[in-house]
Amino acid sequence: MKVVNPATERVIKNINIDDHHSVEEKYRLAVKAQQSFARSDIPARLEIVKNFSALLLKQETKLASLLTSEMGKPMAQARNEIRGARSRITYFLEKSKQVLSDDVVLEHEDFREVIIHEPLGVIANISAWNYPYLIGVNVFIPALIAGNAVLYKPSEYTVLTGLELQKLWLQSGLEQGLFQTVSGGGGVGEMLLELPLDGYFFTGSHVTGKSIYQKIAKKMVPCQMELGGKDPLYITSKNHKLAQVAKAVVDGVFYNNGQSCCAVERVYVHKDVYHDFINVFVKEVKQMKMGDPMNEEVFIGPLARKEQVAYLQEQVDDAVANGGKVLSGGKAETRQGYYFQPTVIINTTHEMKIMIEESFGPVIGIQMVDDDQEAISLMKDTAYGLAAAVFSDDQQQALNIMDKMDTGTVYWNCSDRVSPRLPWSGRKQSGIGVTLSEAGIRAFTKPKAYHLRSKI
Ligand code: NAD
Repeated sequence: MKVVNPATERVIKNINIDDHHSVEEKYRLAVKAQQSFARSDIPARLEIVKNFSALLLKQETKLASLLTSEMGKPMAQARNEIRGARSRITYFLEKSKQVLSDDVVLEHEDFREVIIHEPLGVIANISAWNYPYLIGVNVFIPALIAGNAVLYKPSEYTVLTGLELQKLWLQSGLEQGLFQTVSGGGGVGEMLLELPLDGYFFTGSHVTGKSIYQKIAKKMVPCQMELGGKDPLYITSKNHKLAQVAKAVVDGVFYNNGQSCCAVERVYVHKDVYHDFINVFVKEVKQMKMGDPMNEEVFIGPLARKEQVAYLQEQVDDAVANGGKVLSGGKAETRQGYYFQPTVIINTTHEMKIMIEESFGPVIGIQMVDDDQEAISLMKDTAYGLAAAVFSDDQQQALNIMDKMDTGTVYWNCSDRVSPRLPWSGRKQSGIGVTLSEAGIRAFTKPKAYHLRSKI
């Protein structure tokens, strides 16, 4: 498989992909290694995870530039991602022992009830390319701490990062077989579906997720899906600091070139603040620095995938054909690399693809609304249910709107934010299951109920 740098369009490496034989071999190794790992104590596993985190710190520049070279994430954001991954690891290190400890839920003179949290076994972690360190950590860290072995299938667009992670685990002292990277595209992912694994943890698009979920159903094993979104953001009439709001919205829309599952994908603005907001917002967008992602000052790099350029152009053209007005950008850059101009489109409606289908790029549609009721019904008009945001000076107004959202996450005066302390989960087409938080640690275990009577 050829690994291409999206900024230069040059092949940076050729790698061997897995086949049926090697995938089965990795599975056998994982089963064997997991049996003794499941009996190891949690503090010993935590030590290995600490070593892994220390290596992320030590190798930050190398790991960040590897990611930048294969998926185009600007260097500063690649560094941020590694730092974010380490802070999630810190949460897991602090929390896991308590969450995974045996729970004595009843203790009478001659009777006890205890819950033991056993690992699932060997699990598949099939992952996306947009935040390989962050979304990888959400799965493989709690999975390993709970005593599972992981077959990690990075996206074909971040396979070098995936192979590097395997090396880091070996250097951290993890026994061979417990974390193995499986390289290749969707076909290789399918090979994992054919194995009798004990759990499937997928991060990616709704289309792939749905097909995997259907195939796994017959196995009757846990299957979690972290999928895409079409996250709305509403700016109510009660906003007096529009310059700050605009800065925050630019970040929510354009960070990681809009290639975040919880990126702001559509904006609704109350008519009373609409024109003022648009003015400051467009000014902010035009100030973003686009260029070589290896440059630490650059905020917008190339898109990770070549096909995405045509996909975004189609969304923009569709919006314009249906009455949308482009205030900034609107097309691909003519330079080398998969660059698309940061694009702002107003006068949008829900008849346009840009307001309905996940864009996953640096484009945003903005729609004016008459009142909160209209905003709420537009925000809810989606097949997705990942996150929704409200900007308002009035907390109660924001909470009333957030309460009506059918999403796993809601934000007040912020967006595009994930915390290890809170459950990360999608609803409807955005997925099923939970990563992060205590629930995201337990997700990698199966409870066993002990009924213990000491006298008969
Ligand atoms: P994708 O669905 O194309 O691929 C995801 C993974 O699935 C890759 O490793 C791919 O090789 C593999 N795959 C593809 N076909 C397969 C098959 N038939 N069987 C098994 N595996 C298969 O998604 P992507 O383009 O890598 O990622 C972008 C998507 O991920 C976006 O929709 C984004 O919103 C979503 N995402 C969601 C979250 C979240 O936490 N909810 C986080 C990051 C990304």
